[in-house]
Amino acid sequence: METRDLVVIGGGPAGLAAAISAYEEGCTDVLVLERDVMLGGILNQCIHNGFGLHTFREELTGPEYAARYVDRARELGIECELGTMVVDVSADRVVTAVSPARGVFSVQARSVVLAMGCRERPRGALGIPGFRPAGIYSAGTAQRLVNIEGQMPGREVVILGSGDIGLIMARRMTLEGAHVACVAELMPYSGGLKRNIVQCLDDFGIPLLLSHTISRIEGKRRVEAVWVSEVGPDLKPIAGTEVRYPCDTLLLSVGLLPENELSRAAGVELSPVTRGPVVDESLQTSIPGVFACGNVLHVHDLVDYVSQEAAMAGRCAARFVADGARLSEQDEREVPLVATGGVRYTVPARVSASRMDDKLTVRFRVDNVYKDRYVSVYVGDERLLHKKKRVMAPGEMEEVVLKRADLVARPDAERIVVTLEEV
Ligand SMILES: Cc1cc2nc3c(=O)[nH]c(=O)nc-3n(C[C@H](O)[C@H](O)[C@H](O)COP(=O)(O)OP(=O)(O)OC[C@H]3O[C@@H](n4cnc5c(N)ncnc54)[C@H](O)[C@@H]3O)c2cc1C
Repeated sequence: METRDLVVIGGGPAGLAAAISAYEEGCTDVLVLERDVMLGGILNQCIHNGFGLHTFREELTGPEYAARYVDRARELGIECELGTMVVDVSADRVVTAVSPARGVFSVQARSVVLAMGCRERPRGALGIPGFRPAGIYSAGTAQRLVNIEGQMPGREVVILGSGDIGLIMARRMTLEGAHVACVAELMPYSGGLKRNIVQCLDDFGIPLLLSHTISRIEGKRRVEAVWVSEVGPDLKPIAGTEVRYPCDTLLLSVGLLPENELSRAAGVELSPVTRGPVVDESLQTSIPGVFACGNVLHVHDLVDYVSQEAAMAGRCAARFVADGARLSEQDEREVPLVATGGVRYTVPARVSASRMDDKLTVRFRVDNVYKDRYVSVYVGDERLLHKKKRVMAPGEMEEVVLKRADLVARPDAERIVVTLEEV
């Protein structure tokens, strides 16, 4: 069987950044396996601008941002096999894939980076009454149709869900000549970035109906109308509040699900909150030598953070290859990170002071909209960080930075708590 130092599954922004940083760290025997016929992942269909402000201090489109990484990977001579679908990863890091060029083949990897991204929650997961007419698309499918295939899904549009892709598509459909009647959001807050609400809805006069859902879809062969109802605190439609919106298209932007079928089959421990692998400070999963980054780990709002995180996963995978025993040693003391008081989860979920770099960025999301709260970090009983935030919302990822010196100075700490506190 072919052997490789590092196999990266997925050639999106996460996989590419991981492969590049592993290579730059000295691990040059890298193979990227990508099922699509081109590298760049979902960014290829995100033709709007706004990417790369943090990474490159420039405003790029999705394909331009991806191209920076594709070009760098090519410059380094990193091997990427396209049209190659990974169908299995085993606990001992055998990666099995299939492609028209090679048929079914297996690679024994010393280290693996999982970077398979995420997929959209489909209509079937929502249980909206009505027939199954044409004209219902996930927002990402519509984005692909418009931006890559050059097809218009419809002319009179309603959008359910205010995740970023739905907001972006409200503007995109409008620019392409469609009329977007409204964006209905089940929760009392938007699931997307504030900047997208302003630039994609407010600037185009598209109403955002918070605490609303679609209670009925009309039409047998093609969508003819949807009924939008207000919801109560139990998130159930309130009878008598429904309004009929005639339309030919319904776009769904109701959540992204990390693609973890391969991880689950390999026996990687998954978080019930993020639905991504539970990782330590080096983004290593419960299987030594298997790392995860990007949307397969947890759903990100900005690709810049994906790239930062993936670069770390690549660096750590390279270090594992160079010195696997040290990273996989079980006797290294790991301290769990506990998310509480409005913090839904943290990535990583555990940390070893002896293995971490001098500083570690811990990312998290909150479970509601909070105004004027402190983000606090306790190591044992001691509060080490207390940072005031004016507004926090579930649609925006937050972060705190842990210092190695703080943890080394408290070797007996049983846990690190990340929480919100009132001013
Ligand atoms: C529809 C959609 C639209 C988005 N629009 C925006 C946006 O406008 N702005 C923004 O900042 N973010 C957007 N995002 C978020 C965006 O996904 C992330 O910022 C970033 O692309 C995540 O990078 P990634 O590499 O983790 O995942 P992806 O970009 O999804 O890359 C994952 C790659 O893995 C490959 N893959 C998956 N499974 C396998 C397998 N078994 N074998 C081989 N290859 C595999 C996929 O083909 C894909 O190329 C969008 C996400 C989606 C789903």
